Amino acid sequence: MRIVDVCEITKPIASPIRNAYIDFSKMTTSLVAVVTDVERDGRRVVGYGFNSNGRYGQGGLIRERFRGRILEAEPASLLNEAGDNLDPHKIWAAMMTNEKPGGHGERSVAVGTLDMAIWDAVAKIAGQPLFRLLAEQHGRDADPRVFVYAAGGYYYPGKDDGALRAEMRGYLDRGYNVVKMKIGGAPIADDQRRIEAVLAEIGSDARLAVDANGRFDLETGIAYAKMLRQYPLFWYEEVGDPLDYALQAALSEFYSGPMATGENLFSHQDARNLLRYGGMRPDRDFLQFDCALSYGLVEYLRTLDVLKQFGWSPSRCIPHGGHQMSLNIAAGLGLGGNESYPDLFRPYGGFPDGVKVENGHITMPDLPGIGFEGKSDLIKVMRELAE
Ligand SMILES: [Mg+2]
Repeated sequence: MRIVDVCEITKPIASPIRNAYIDFSKMTTSLVAVVTDVERDGRRVVGYGFNSNGRYGQGGLIRERFRGRILEAEPASLLNEAGDNLDPHKIWAAMMTNEKPGGHGERSVAVGTLDMAIWDAVAKIAGQPLFRLLAEQHGRDADPRVFVYAAGGYYYPGKDDGALRAEMRGYLDRGYNVVKMKIGGAPIADDQRRIEAVLAEIGSDARLAVDANGRFDLETGIAYAKMLRQYPLFWYEEVGDPLDYALQAALSEFYSGPMATGENLFSHQDARNLLRYGGMRPDRDFLQFDCALSYGLVEYLRTLDVLKQFGWSPSRCIPHGGHQMSLNIAAGLGLGGNESYPDLFRPYGGFPDGVKVENGHITMPDLPGIGFEGKSDLIKVMRELAE
């Protein structure tokens, strides 16, 4: 059993939207395939992955460093103890050979993308959905029902409050009961008006979260906290720079409701610093680390160990990114749910065909691997790369 090739291509996932920090008009993603010599059900096992969204394709790093380290490793050194499957932890160690600690940069995105494809292959070789394999490996019961919320409310040209309300109503009509909108891309008075418009629209049918995308300095973050705390928000997300733990800690003095952050922390060491120094509260706050951006599930398991050490439940994790990898981790390891972008980042985000949101939850179908084969628009693009 061995990996015979690793294929990679950069694909556009552009859309004419912006948050408080970036626009997505030139956004790309890396799509990768890990091709094995294993056959299941008369078909070669190929694992697929992509790097979530928001960080651009990582083709250079994958081609120049990580692909070669996988293909040059002695094949037997990448197998599990029983020798009947690939071992994602050993492959991870091979990829990270001769990489210095710290400075996580975007190498974590390249590794996370490959790691997704490796876990997809591993679960397919095992003939199981990844979430069931993870639950089994960790002595848990899988729970195929996963909370999801609708992330939207972006700024884009010509969008008025009516369009924003209609967008949010559309999410409720599709079964969501938590919706999210962007803030910080307009003056505070405009954002307050937008928030009130959405709250008037959703009434008691749903809760609203707001996301500043790391835009605010402490003074602005506090000004928004004072404005936001009069509303019953689901959370106040990523207020300041992702690495400014003192800012995050100071905010908790001004905002007693739930806060969320972590999507731009790319290692278990960064996650640990957030828990050590960020003043995050395990009884109400949420952690949004996205495995695809942060060295993959092998590293995410270390992050979950850090959480445990600091008294946090995995149920406080609701990852960024809206991909099926995090849905599997949620269902298999008991995370609190997953982000979803109902109308964005197609075909990469979203659910397998036929999966519906009901009362803010989806139910994972029993598909081998991550389940990409159940999403017809996505698997078509994936198979063009390697099959
Ligand atoms: Mg966010």
